Amino acid sequence: MLHRILLLLAVAGLLTVAGVAVWRQYRRPALPSLYAHGNLLINPGFQEDADGDARPDGWTSGPAAELGDWTITPEPGGHSLRLTGSGSYVRSAAIVVWPGKRYQLSLYALTDAAEANRLQVLFLWEDSRRETIERQASPWLEVPAGQWRRLTSEAQAPANASGLSILVRPAGDDPVYIDDLHLAEDGVRLEPFPDYARAALAFTVDWETAMGGLIHSRSDDAYDPATAEQRGLAMREGAENLLALLEHYGIRATWYASGYSLLEGNASGQAFAGDPTYTWASRANGWRNDRWVTTPWFVDDPHGTAQSYPAWYFGDVVSRLLAAGQDIQSHTFGHLYAGHASPEELRTDLQLWNDAAAAAGAPRARSLAFPWGASLGMSDANYDALEALGYIAVTRTYHEPQGRSQYWILPPDDLFHMRTVPGHPDLWAFPDHYFPGHATDPAWAREVVDRVLLERGVTSLWAHTEEVLSAEQVAAWDEVLAYAAARRDAGLWVAPLTEVVAYRKALSRVEINSEVKGERLEVVVRNGNDHALAGLTLTMPGPIQEVRLEGSPYLDYVLDQVRLPALEPGRQVRLEAVLSAWETSP
Ligand SMILES: [Zn+2]
Repeated sequence: MLHRILLLLAVAGLLTVAGVAVWRQYRRPALPSLYAHGNLLINPGFQEDADGDARPDGWTSGPAAELGDWTITPEPGGHSLRLTGSGSYVRSAAIVVWPGKRYQLSLYALTDAAEANRLQVLFLWEDSRRETIERQASPWLEVPAGQWRRLTSEAQAPANASGLSILVRPAGDDPVYIDDLHLAEDGVRLEPFPDYARAALAFTVDWETAMGGLIHSRSDDAYDPATAEQRGLAMREGAENLLALLEHYGIRATWYASGYSLLEGNASGQAFAGDPTYTWASRANGWRNDRWVTTPWFVDDPHGTAQSYPAWYFGDVVSRLLAAGQDIQSHTFGHLYAGHASPEELRTDLQLWNDAAAAAGAPRARSLAFPWGASLGMSDANYDALEALGYIAVTRTYHEPQGRSQYWILPPDDLFHMRTVPGHPDLWAFPDHYFPGHATDPAWAREVVDRVLLERGVTSLWAHTEEVLSAEQVAAWDEVLAYAAARRDAGLWVAPLTEVVAYRKALSRVEINSEVKGERLEVVVRNGNDHALAGLTLTMPGPIQEVRLEGSPYLDYVLDQVRLPALEPGRQVRLEAVLSAWETSP
């Protein structure tokens, strides 16, 4: 349909050449664009090689894929990629796609051999687990000897696709040079992040009292109330340090609270969850002794208040976190080892967490940070229990690089994208990087921030609040929060983990219809969710000259992207856009 729209626009003389310098850098091919401008590929011209390994950033390449100096548009630092040999290939990072949409790849290719060669483009579609579910191969396309040729291929995303990567490979053993790849979505693209963002970063902390994981420690300190109390106070003090920093930078984080973090106290001596004894908390399962096999889990509760026992209850802090817009989520009520707990134990515990949250004025939990950083041992029934309670995200999943890979939900070599839990397509596992705030940590944490932007992905940095305590740790957090806040200008969306996941889920219930109306592209967007959506960002098929929203001039657009006003549940808005063509090559 868009082909027709643009043809009509072209006939109407509206596809004028835009001679603005900022567009020149994109070096568009000399054809009017039928596709969204925003190139979906990372590092499409192979210029970026930040790590200096002579391989372009954002691409995976097979043997004999090397940077070449021939470029389609000669410029300082320009490169093509040379593929030599039948077994060579190059593969793009995966991008977010929408089911049913069409995607077009274009690229330039030549060979310096005496005879023409050929290459093939593969569209590798991924599901929400980031596993390839379908491959669509182009015909073998001829690559001329000694001159660049623009080659194109297109494909439609399967019904359950959520990601796409592109693979290019040559025929025969003669070298093929490729350059200036461009991947575009047909028509109007719904961007996966709000407010013009390209990537998302969450800061999250585990926030537990002495009654949380501390008294039930599996570490060397084992059962030690004095140490638990000391650490509880450190958790409290670190939380204050962190909250001050977050407010300074206007950042909202996700606070994974264990149940006693939500309580103002327990002076009445209430018994929680029927005063359970968890027989799985045994030496065989990693505890230092068998104390908890026979001892009720909450026996150390001092039955006081946050004032009399400030290491044991943090409920007095909750209202200030909520007032500051911070996101409070579940670390389980009793700091359960979720992989050992039975479904009934887990359900009871998580319901208890929701009850405590309600009493503290906080919403029910939608995301979980696994205590002891471990999802390993989680049964299918335990995941069902999470979903039945409305959980949409889990983090602190087990992904130790030296660990037992059969328990990984997220592979350690890809902590920049979320993927769903197997068998639970509505439950997302969110990657995290442990940031304990030592002096050497900010350097790599800044690289994490840069990398998530490069990959247009999502990730998080996390610690316990007791690790925002020393001057060194506070300085480390200050540095990284400042860096992340500054990178908002580069398109980084810094948001609570739960919101990042909820936003992605909500996009599947946004409907977009576009058609030509006279000289304008009319776009109707409907929010099919039961809650409002703010920041929806659309990419148009060309630079925007003018936008009207419900008939009135509308100015919230940048180049080819427009941001919608907040859309109430079930509501729709109508945009009319006048577009121009991308500048043709000089
Ligand atoms: Zn914990």
